[in-house]
Amino acid sequence: MRETEQKAAQAYTKQFGSEPDLVASAPGRINLIGEHTDYNGGFVLPCAIDRRIAIAVGTGEGGLYSADFDETREVGEKDGSWADYPRSVAWAMAKDGNRVEPFEAAFAGDVPLGSGLSSSAAIEAATALALDALFGLDIERKDLAVLCQRAENDYVGVASGIMDQYASLLCEAGAALLVDCRSLEAHSVPLDLAAAGLALVVCDTRVERGLADTGYNDRRATCERAAQTLGIDELRDATDEDLNRLSGEELERARHVVSENARVLAAVEALKNNDFDEFGRLMYVSHASLRDHYEVSTPELDTFVETAREHGAKGARLTGAGFGGCAIALVPESRTDEVTEACRRAFAEHDLQEPAFYEFVPAAGAELAE
Ligand code: ADP
Ligand code: MG
Repeated sequence: MRETEQKAAQAYTKQFGSEPDLVASAPGRINLIGEHTDYNGGFVLPCAIDRRIAIAVGTGEGGLYSADFDETREVGEKDGSWADYPRSVAWAMAKDGNRVEPFEAAFAGDVPLGSGLSSSAAIEAATALALDALFGLDIERKDLAVLCQRAENDYVGVASGIMDQYASLLCEAGAALLVDCRSLEAHSVPLDLAAAGLALVVCDTRVERGLADTGYNDRRATCERAAQTLGIDELRDATDEDLNRLSGEELERARHVVSENARVLAAVEALKNNDFDEFGRLMYVSHASLRDHYEVSTPELDTFVETAREHGAKGARLTGAGFGGCAIALVPESRTDEVTEACRRAFAEHDLQEPAFYEFVPAAGAELAE
């Protein structure tokens, strides 16, 4: 058992006085490339990270216990707390006509929360896999992911796309996951960073994503208008020539979406060929497009990307919606300390808040613990 899984199992026994029936865990994720493409019916390429949330579960009525918050909540009603995430999953399962019996559960995790690494999808996916096994529902992984998305959208009330739940439930160790956000088809793509001598460095700017909601909604609305102007359902279907028929903001936003979708597919080819130079180049171009055409970058994100580039990163870009949050870089293993130290200095010189750094390896998706 992994450490977080052991922690959840021990917390269960301490709280509820018996052994759990089963333990499961699910990871957070980062998106390697394909930003603001999901709601345009396009492509994304996330990978799971080696930080997880674990759930120990059994039948019973002891409630929901979080080891990280050290508090117990009743399974019952929505209350705006962390417990809404597991509740939402049980709610969505029951809504689909599945038999969900009373259960009690303990949670423990190490996904940084609220940083854009999708701790929310991790807790949903872990809960979904655990309840599916506990009640013998036999729901397919893809359907569990869709169910978790519905749980977050309709019960918790957060309008997220499908990427996070897909990544948490379907990723494989040592691989990225190409997701077609329209057909919901997904394929593993090899991502052997260790063999290439590369590390995945994440910079959490820890900047409150203040403009995130309005900025996000505004970008979404502009994309919908651009699709209308072109007479298509989604920008996924727009071509380079179509861009000539757009102007102003619609043109700028569509330019990013059309080129970003192409970059995701090119990035997948690069990975298949083990061509990390090309993969890295595409990351830099993606960042420039998000900065100049989609206009969702910040001084912190730009500083990280430029500093990483100066210190030998093969590629770097903001990841997630932007307006703060995280950026990633592909860095030769021997130079990760150099990159993070140079970034700390650059942030201090520019009077930016000190960021947090993580190094992740592409990890396995949700699993039942042995
Ligand atoms: P992100 O998904 O980017 O981490 P969100 O705001 O979507 O940020 O989700 C964070 C929320 O998920 C937390 O506020 C909490 O309610 C829940 N959560 C995250 N990690 C845990 C944990 N270890 N135990 C219980 N709840 C958690
Ligand atoms: Mg989230």
